[in-house]
Amino acid sequence: MSPEFRDVDVIVVGSGPGGATVARALARAGMNVLILERGWDHRRRFYYGTYLGALIYTDRHSFLYTHEGLNIIRPLMVGGATSMYAGCAAEPPAWLKERYGIDITQEVAETIEELEIAPLPPDLRGRASTRIAEAAHDLGYEWFPQPKFMRPARGDISQCGARCLLGCRCGAKWNAAEYVDEAIEAGARLLTGVRVTRVLVEDGHALGVQGYKGRSPFRAFGDIVILAAGGIGTPRILHRSGFPEAGTGMTMDTTLMVYGIIPREKGIGNEPPMTWSWEDPEGHFMLSTLIDPWLNYPLVMMRQGWEAMRTWARWNHILGIMIKLRDEVSGGVYPDGMIRKPLTLLDQKRLERAIEMSKHILVKAGADPDTLLITPLRGTHPSGTVRIHDLVNNNLEMEIDDLYVCDASVFPEALGRPTVLTIIGLAKRLAKHLIEKMS
Ligand SMILES: Cc1cc2nc3c(=O)[nH]c(=O)nc-3n(C[C@H](O)[C@H](O)[C@H](O)COP(=O)(O)OP(=O)(O)OC[C@H]3O[C@@H](n4cnc5c(N)ncnc54)[C@H](O)[C@@H]3O)c2cc1C
Repeated sequence: MSPEFRDVDVIVVGSGPGGATVARALARAGMNVLILERGWDHRRRFYYGTYLGALIYTDRHSFLYTHEGLNIIRPLMVGGATSMYAGCAAEPPAWLKERYGIDITQEVAETIEELEIAPLPPDLRGRASTRIAEAAHDLGYEWFPQPKFMRPARGDISQCGARCLLGCRCGAKWNAAEYVDEAIEAGARLLTGVRVTRVLVEDGHALGVQGYKGRSPFRAFGDIVILAAGGIGTPRILHRSGFPEAGTGMTMDTTLMVYGIIPREKGIGNEPPMTWSWEDPEGHFMLSTLIDPWLNYPLVMMRQGWEAMRTWARWNHILGIMIKLRDEVSGGVYPDGMIRKPLTLLDQKRLERAIEMSKHILVKAGADPDTLLITPLRGTHPSGTVRIHDLVNNNLEMEIDDLYVCDASVFPEALGRPTVLTIIGLAKRLAKHLIEKMS
């Protein structure tokens, strides 16, 4: 017989920052919360935070590509993509309140205080990374120490380096899985290895969800269903639930890295990722100090040709800048499974400007101009696939009653900056709305 769960107040699908935050808040308010997560909890496994781990817990073993060839790293595990994020925090963009009337100032302030979000102290920002920031400063760009979801008191950050993107082994970086733990302490139930395929709907109301636990069919019934399966997972569930228009258009904060070799000096590879950043005053892109982890580097560079790949031998001497483009809505996640993310002409123009600026900064920081390289484009923030004012209202509710979306899918535009703090803010706001509605 297929397992069934009944009499649940709230079903939360997905345990990334969106799902984990709303689940914790609702469980703490005394609701009977069931969290359904497709992946497993890998945190205490020997491979967590290693190259092997990154192959195990990402969609298609890290070889997921859009139709255009953008590589998407999509962690499928308890904690979602915060298991592999760079731990950067950015406040929500002002336009979220100005254009969409969504004010999460208080929720964000609470989170900053609770998680002690702050830049790393100067001695942990990395010498080579700081050198890039200083060079940028000399050129008139005021880079800032990037606020982080990292608490040096919890782990030895000085030993982390670029591989901290594979999963945090020292424990300094906050992960949404911690909110899942706290939700469970407050009474929520977590079922892992459950892939939700669709929402059960009757007479315009969401009744529950169905899917698979392993190979067995699975169903759960609850008063409220919250989809938090991420910018790709949520529209896929909605497609099978009678919303073929979900996933039409997408934002990605399309990313590209610019590298340059600094002869005879140490590069940024053994320094914490993204310790310094800068935002274009017009808000079209963000720059940060970053390099691909050692073993990822040749895999990425392979696509740029033999000469680019050979620079792997100098990985210890590379300075890197990551460009995060605030891209326009384009492409999408389609019902046949395809993901498309073409750059618009405007995106391309902005990207070219960002590349030129990055090269300029790297040379000023001491990189040999003959060694400058760019990586292929990639997508780290699949989002904007179930947009506010389009498929969900300001309370993140779909046109089906009691069906909500609480993840990066709801972004009405690309953020062009780290997403997690905004997602947490939105999730806390949704929890307040639901607590009020159900009281
Ligand atoms: C390498 C990398 C670095 C990043 N660095 C940063 C950073 O420094 N700062 C920042 O703010 N952001 C960063 N991000 C982005 C950020 O981590 C994501 O935007 C954010 O985690 C998205 O949250 P979410 O709740 O929307 O979804 P996710 O975190 O993707 O969580 C969705 C969850 O749903 C589960 N799921 C999916 N489908 C199903 C299904 N059918 N049934 C059940 N469960 C399902 C998944 O397994 C996953 O656990 C980074 C991302 C990556 C990949």
